[in-house]
Amino acid sequence: MTGARRVPRDGRRAPRRRPAPARAAWESLSAEIRACRRCPLGATRTHAVVYRGSLTPEVLFVGEAPGAEEDRQGVPFVGRAGRRLDEAIRFLGLPEGTVGILNVLKCRPPHNRFDRAAARTCRPYLDRQLDLLRPRLIVTLGAHALRTLDPSAPPVLQSAGTLRAGPAGPIFPLIHPAAALRSRRWGERWVHDLTALRTWRAGRAREAL
Ligand code: SF4
Repeated sequence: MTGARRVPRDGRRAPRRRPAPARAAWESLSAEIRACRRCPLGATRTHAVVYRGSLTPEVLFVGEAPGAEEDRQGVPFVGRAGRRLDEAIRFLGLPEGTVGILNVLKCRPPHNRFDRAAARTCRPYLDRQLDLLRPRLIVTLGAHALRTLDPSAPPVLQSAGTLRAGPAGPIFPLIHPAAALRSRRWGERWVHDLTALRTWRAGRAREAL
């Protein structure tokens, strides 16, 4: 049976296991980020915020920058928006161990205002994380994450809810979960686009049968 893929009783093929990045390379990169002072945000942050989730994510959620709670804990998406994202992950039926979460900027910008210059300085860390994690799908959260990973994408409100062929692989843009908390209208848009993502994933699963 060498090389055969296990087929569960429901007939679906089990996803092919991908090798995790070398633990030493990941730990070394994470330590480098935690110690970084390359841009002015390094002087005002409490913690650099590196990553949470599996080191072999099928789906990688990419946000914009840490907020106050993330800065305090050093973990991405742990405030109200994070709880909204965790609900979304459950809604999508993504099991623990198949998901990763990070931000474009690793340190909190003052007043939560996305800092483009800092993002350019910080970009190599994001690229190195993507190289090590190699997710099958990237889900961008908000306009800045989309613009960072797919500069030619139309504005987020046009792009959200539709799969794109990004420069480094497939991207499914969503609005930021914090936006979904701001009004009923944006909350409905969030659910609408998440439903589109869930439908797309279900179609992919059927094709794999
Ligand atoms: S935002 Fe990025 S480049 Fe700036 S100090 Fe933090 S880790 Fe370093």
